[in-house]
Amino acid sequence: MGRLSDRDRSMIRRLRNARVLEDADAHKLKSPDGVIVVPCSDGDQMPDVFEHQCALAREVGRPVRPHMLSLHGGAMLIAENCPLYREYRVDDLLLQHIREAEGTDLKGIGTVVLYIHAPCGAAGLAGLSLVEQVVLLIRAKERVKEIDTTNAVVCFVHVDYGDRQRTYFISRDRWLSYWAALGRRLWGSLFLTDPHPEAVRTRASDSSEEDLPGPICQDVELLNAPLSLGDTGPSPTQLALENARNK
Ligand SMILES: [Zn+2]
Repeated sequence: MGRLSDRDRSMIRRLRNARVLEDADAHKLKSPDGVIVVPCSDGDQMPDVFEHQCALAREVGRPVRPHMLSLHGGAMLIAENCPLYREYRVDDLLLQHIREAEGTDLKGIGTVVLYIHAPCGAAGLAGLSLVEQVVLLIRAKERVKEIDTTNAVVCFVHVDYGDRQRTYFISRDRWLSYWAALGRRLWGSLFLTDPHPEAVRTRASDSSEEDLPGPICQDVELLNAPLSLGDTGPSPTQLALENARNK
């Protein structure tokens, strides 16, 4: 089993501070017909993913009906530019399975939960950082939405810290706002072309960094500190905050 890289850990911390990654438990899925779940097949993480989906359903009194579509890499495979298993047209296969599971002839499930996770062995094989996985996940969401715009598509990031596993919700809109405000400067060099050219800074964030929303503003301060992708890790204060959040 791999270990969470310092680079990915740093990214997660930034996105948690900016509330781009939020606790999944706070986002109750209103899915009366069950959920189509697209996680990586990683057997070390699957029990946590499966149990979490079942628990979310039980908590809101909806049917426990996780319809699992699992392949190495999870939902990022749905993005047409994911480098994994292209020769097998895995994106078309997964989209077809989702289409069938949504259809009333088969299961009639109207909610799709897309997962990536870290550390992910398949992502490692392809040399993908978590930033690149998130970009692919967001693209996967767009493609699943194209199947049926009335269906709900939710994106989760599962993280194994070694001593604990956590599931975070990531909103496409918040990710794009973050990309425009900071992500492009932090991580744009990882990509040959800008993966989100449509992401533009809001009027507030155009005027000055002080006008950014609170959480992102804090991250601007971090950005202005001598940190890089492989930054030096959390301060004791940050660790305490992180631990408190993850309780
Ligand atoms: Zn994996």
